[in-house]
Amino acid sequence: MAQQDSARQAAEGTPAAETPEPAESGEDLEFLDDTADAEERERAHRERGTARPITVVGNPVLHRRCQDVTEFDDKLTQLIDDMFASQRAAEGVGLAANQIGVDLRVFVYDCPDDDGVRHVGAICNPVIEELPAESRVLDESNEGCLSVPTAYAPLARPDYAVCRGQDAQGKPVVVRGTGYFARCLQHETDHLDGYLYIDRLSKRDRKDALRQMAEGTPRYETVPND
Ligand code: ZN
Repeated sequence: MAQQDSARQAAEGTPAAETPEPAESGEDLEFLDDTADAEERERAHRERGTARPITVVGNPVLHRRCQDVTEFDDKLTQLIDDMFASQRAAEGVGLAANQIGVDLRVFVYDCPDDDGVRHVGAICNPVIEELPAESRVLDESNEGCLSVPTAYAPLARPDYAVCRGQDAQGKPVVVRGTGYFARCLQHETDHLDGYLYIDRLSKRDRKDALRQMAEGTPRYETVPND
C-alpha cells in the first residue's frame, strides 16, 4: 500500500474516526507484538534483500488468487527480505508478493497505526477476521497502491482489523491494527485474493484513479505490461 496521502487528507480535513475498543469476539487471542524493535527488524530485512520492480494494474499476477505458502524455507526468507527491500525502494507501507511478480500468499508491512506507532512484519496465508457489524466503524480516508502508481481515492473500510496467518517459520500468528494499519492489513490481504483497492471503488472513482495513474510518473521501477 502507498504512503498516506497526507497533503490531500489535510486539505480535505478528514476527521479522525473514533476507534472503538477491540471487538470482544477474540477473548483470548494472543496478538503478535509487531512494534518491538520495528526499526531494527525492518532494516535487517531490507539490507539482506534486493529491491525488485513493482507490477502494476493489468498484470495477470495481480488479478488472481495467489498460491498458499506451504514451504517455510530459506527461499521464503529470501523472498520476504526482497519484499522489504522493494517496499522501502518504492516508499510503501505494505507490499504483497504478487506486487513483485511472485504468486504466493505472503505480504510485508511497515505501517503506522492510529496512534502513530510503527508496525513491522510479514504474514503468510493471511485471513481477515469478520468483525461483528455493531463494532464496525468505517474510515473513509484516501487509499493508494504501489501497483496503481500516483493515484489516490477515498475508500470506506473498517478502522479496526484482525488478521490471522502464519509467520515466516509457519507458526500461527494474529495481528491487529487500527487506523491506517487496519486499512493496510485489509488492502494487502485483498491483493493476495486477486483484488486491488480500485476494484472496490465506484465505476467513476475507479476511472478517476486510472486517469491519475496515466497522468503520473511513478518514483520507482515498475514492470511494464505487455
Ligand atoms: Zn496495493
